[in-house]
Amino acid sequence: MSFKIAIDGPSSSGKSTLAKMIAKNLGFVYIDTGAMYRAMGYYFLKNNLDLNDIEIVNNNVNNVDVELNYVDGVLQVLLNGEDISGVIRKEEVGSAGSIISTYKLVRERLVSLQQKMASVCDVVMDGRDIGTVVLPDANVKIYLNADCHERAVRRHKELLEKGIDKSLEEVETDLKERDYRDMNRENSPLRKANDAIEIDSTNMEIEEVVEMVLSIVKEKRGDK
Ligand code: C5P
Repeated sequence: MSFKIAIDGPSSSGKSTLAKMIAKNLGFVYIDTGAMYRAMGYYFLKNNLDLNDIEIVNNNVNNVDVELNYVDGVLQVLLNGEDISGVIRKEEVGSAGSIISTYKLVRERLVSLQQKMASVCDVVMDGRDIGTVVLPDANVKIYLNADCHERAVRRHKELLEKGIDKSLEEVETDLKERDYRDMNRENSPLRKANDAIEIDSTNMEIEEVVEMVLSIVKEKRGDK
């Protein structure tokens, strides 16, 4: 049986950094489910299809194939065979991913791909519904949280490093909007699974969070 670690939490709480570091430390495969929703959203942007029209979305979902590969340890995201890794981190693609993720058919399609990937090897998977829907039987579930202002400060710094000049206020407003959509949508809203361990990283360095999660995993596995 493979060992599964589920990490959920709001945008910019540090989930993907944590998941990558844990996966590297344990030799597990990291599955970035947000990248899959971004890829799905990008398909609609690229083809000028209206993301807000449920009929258009439902008619196109099955035309979209998303694959995650690792090339020399670096994540490669394929949309219908085309490498789109370069564009999926853009802000507009994140927003498209957030909108597209509200639709039932989109979620069903991506969740089944995610479950298939997790059935064959030890994984660390991060997202919004991993502990609640995708891997309800995960061996370890973490809900990573942080104060909204602190998340906005972190995101703002990341954007500046990428040369994107967006005000802190704007970043914080966008995050609040995304939190609202993720937590209040009808299909698989973001929430902490009953058996998840919540970690508030507001005043923690990422290394401290990693240590904490590794010790939870070691205890679960009965490692010495
Ligand atoms: O985590 P990331 O920002 O890359 O995810 C993009 C969007 O995809 C999120 O804003 C969220 O709405 C959605 N998402 C989701 N369920 C997941 C992962 C991401 O709804 N498991």
